[in-house]
Amino acid sequence: MKALIVFSGGQDSTTCLGWAKNRFDSVETLTFDYGQRHDIEIIQAKKIASIFGVKNQIFNINIFKELQNSALLDKTSDINAPHKNKPNLPASYVPNRNAMFFTIAHAYAQKIGASKIITGINQTDYSGYPDCREEFIKPLELALNIGSESKINFIYPLIHLTKAETFKLAKNEGILDIVINESHTCYNGDHQSFHSWGYGCGKCQACKLREHGWNKYKQSNSN
Ligand SMILES: [Zn+2]
Repeated sequence: MKALIVFSGGQDSTTCLGWAKNRFDSVETLTFDYGQRHDIEIIQAKKIASIFGVKNQIFNINIFKELQNSALLDKTSDINAPHKNKPNLPASYVPNRNAMFFTIAHAYAQKIGASKIITGINQTDYSGYPDCREEFIKPLELALNIGSESKINFIYPLIHLTKAETFKLAKNEGILDIVINESHTCYNGDHQSFHSWGYGCGKCQACKLREHGWNKYKQSNSN
């Protein structure tokens, strides 16, 4: 059985890749280059895929720059501010990003004969992204399968896990070292400063969440 991982090279999708490698006969990864602020994400995604010995397909989606209203795509915006069009959401929110990513992944899965698509979406720790919820992905899966006469399942192993539990899962899957040393989540593109929880500036929301999760994980494992 073949699985396709929607793969950013971050902590969550790297954990999903390790999880999938331990469960499926054949695994491939798909990374989107959509004009992220930092090339390091793509570099690490390629590197991690090669460490796992799996194919990494990169698709360029330049249209996000035209649709742009996310601080994730604009180096001049404050990544920690509220979203400028949707004040209840973080500035890093990219409208319809997951809808587009998952739709393209579903088409690519049909091409390569994958019956499972695995994503690291998570609604526990960071509920700021409305397209990272089960109630969003389930109807999307149904619609895509109806629209293509397919039976491809989306699997999201991290959906209800905290970041601490995601670290624990990586440990259980035997891939914690790769997650710490290679995965990149920092919004500021810092892949120079190393901490016990991995590389990052230590100041942005993504780093804070990762550091907090790591501390919780260490606490729960020392008791
Ligand atoms: Zn950071």
